[in-house]
Order: sequence, then structure tokens, then C-alpha cells
Amino acid sequence: MSSLIKFARHWIAGETSGEAIKIAKKKNQEGFGVIINYLGEHVLDNIEAQKNTDENIRLVAAIHQEKVNASLSIKLSQLGLLIDKDFCQSNVEKIVSSATSKCIFVWIDMESSPFTDDTIDIYLDIFHKYGNSGIAIQANLKRSENDIKRIAGEGGNIRLVKGAYSEKKDIAFSRRSDITKNFSKLMGYLFYKSAYFAIASHDELLINEAIEVNKTHKRRIEFQMLMGVREELKHNLVSNGFNVVDYIPYGTAWIPYTVRRLRERKRNILLIMRSVFDT
Ligand SMILES: Cc1cc2nc3c(=O)[nH]c(=O)nc-3n(C[C@H](O)[C@H](O)[C@H](O)COP(=O)(O)OP(=O)(O)OC[C@H]3O[C@@H](n4cnc5c(N)ncnc54)[C@H](O)[C@@H]3O)c2cc1C
Repeated sequence: MSSLIKFARHWIAGETSGEAIKIAKKKNQEGFGVIINYLGEHVLDNIEAQKNTDENIRLVAAIHQEKVNASLSIKLSQLGLLIDKDFCQSNVEKIVSSATSKCIFVWIDMESSPFTDDTIDIYLDIFHKYGNSGIAIQANLKRSENDIKRIAGEGGNIRLVKGAYSEKKDIAFSRRSDITKNFSKLMGYLFYKSAYFAIASHDELLINEAIEVNKTHKRRIEFQMLMGVREELKHNLVSNGFNVVDYIPYGTAWIPYTVRRLRERKRNILLIMRSVFDT
């Protein structure tokens, strides 16, 4: 195994669903909820999109069979959104209907801004048919306030994130402080409007703010974090009785995900350089 893959394993369970389920079970025993994600994006081939759909359905069956407390997260460009919107929607429906029959919740990840409209359309359609699903909304996008109002207004479930993709300045906040400020504003709206939502951030200031607001505006909130990031903070939250969910990706298409994790923190790039040269 190359040291690059070894390094990626910090954020990724492995290449198979079995490896993800094994880590998920351990996380459950430690008091965490879990979201499992089969990696992959920007698929241009029908057969590949269909195979990805089948893998997600097998994952649902495995979660059910192994009795793991886990939900699923999917990316629409992995399921054919770049090929045809209706084709993608029918793939998503196959996954969500199979998950719903086994009481497994499905999250839809949000990708870069060209996908936002279609992702929200498909989500709302699926949500109205099945319930049992949620969608990520990115605080770096200026449009997100309207999107949250629309989705929360229709009763949808939201995972609030800062946003992992570089976007143009006319549609997105680029300064970290502006993104954090908008996150805080959108979170305030969710406390006002939603009974249940997820705060998916490792930013301790935002997490503490949510904990404070939740004392007076009691909501069912969950803190979602990525596998391999801020483990100590996660454990502290769990031992203080908060609902914490670990996002566990697996699969062979691990490069784009790993690059996003590297970009989020310059120190990670130094660590990878060291692990490459130490071997
Ligand atoms: C469960 C979950 C689901 C997500 N889903 C989506 C999605 O669907 N669409 C999307 O665009 N984005 C998604 N993201 C990514 C998100 O948008 C951010 O890019 C990412 O979470 C980093 O932002 P932050 O809120 O943690 O804040 P930051 O300000 O980036 O980080 C706060 C602190 O957390 C630590 N930290 C953050 N990232 C790392 C890292 N990679 N390695 C080590 N330490 C780190 C550092 O200590 C940092 O100071 C998701 C994130 C999570 C946790």
C-alpha cells in the first residue's frame, strides 16, 4: 500500500463496505451515530451510475443486516446527475425507497454550485414522497438563506455545513469570517424554524454557540463530524450527552474527498509530505 493511500485512511474506512461497517459498529459502541458514504462523484457513464446505485442499495442491506445505527449519505453526481436529471432521480428513489423500508435515513450531500438547484429539486421531491431524508446546505453560498427558508418551510431536514468547494465571489462568501458569520445566521434560522437539524462542523465556536442557543430553544440537534477529524472534541461532546454522528466514507474513489480534506487545513499537507518521505 502506498504511503499516500495509508495517509488517506486517516479519513476513509477502506475500500469496501465491510470495512466501513466494522468502524461504524465500533463508533456505535462508543456512543456515536454514524453516516456511511460510498465515495464517488462526477460519473458520466450510465452503467457506472447504475453500479453506484446498486452499491448503495447493498450498503443499506448490510447496515440493516448488521444492525448498525447508521444512515447513508449520497452524492447526486455519483448517481447520474451529469447524465440526466430524471435518470438520477430514479436512482436516488431506488436507494431511498430501499432505505425507507428498513428505517434507514438518507442524507444528500451538496456538491459544487452548478448542482445546487437540481439537488434541491430532487431532494424536495424525494422528501415529499418518502420523508426519511435530509440535505446539506452550504453557508458559503449567498443563496443558502433562501434555500434554507424554502426547505425548512416545506418541512425538510437540513445539515448545515460551511461548504467544501471553491466558488466564485459573486455567488459565495470567500473570507472565513464571513462564512462563519453566515453559518451562525443560518443556524439561528434553523433554531427558529426546524425541530430537527444537523450542525456539520468542527468549529468549536459554532458548536458552543449551538449548545448555548439550544438551552433556551430546545431542538433535536445533532453534531456531525468527519471521520479522522477532531476526535477529542467528538468524544467530549458524547461524554457530555450530546448527539454526535461520525461521517465515514469508503470506496476506491477516495482522491477528490481526500484533496478536499487536505485543502481544509494546510497542516494536513505537511503531514502527508512527512508520511511520504518517512517511508
Ligand atoms: C458530516 C459532514 C458532512 C459534510 N457534508 C458536506 C457537503 O455535503 N457538502 C459540502 O460542501 N461540504 C460538506 N462538509 C464539509 C464542510 O463544508 C467543510 O468543508 C468542513 O467541515 C470544514 O469546515 P468546518 O466547519 O469544520 O470549519 P473549519 O473552520 O474548516 O474548521 C474548524 C476546525 O476544525 C478542524 N478541521 C477542520 N477540517 C479539518 C481537516 N480536514 N483536518 C483536520 N482538522 C480539521 C481544525 O481544527 C479547524 O480549525 C461536510 C462536513 C461534515 C462534518
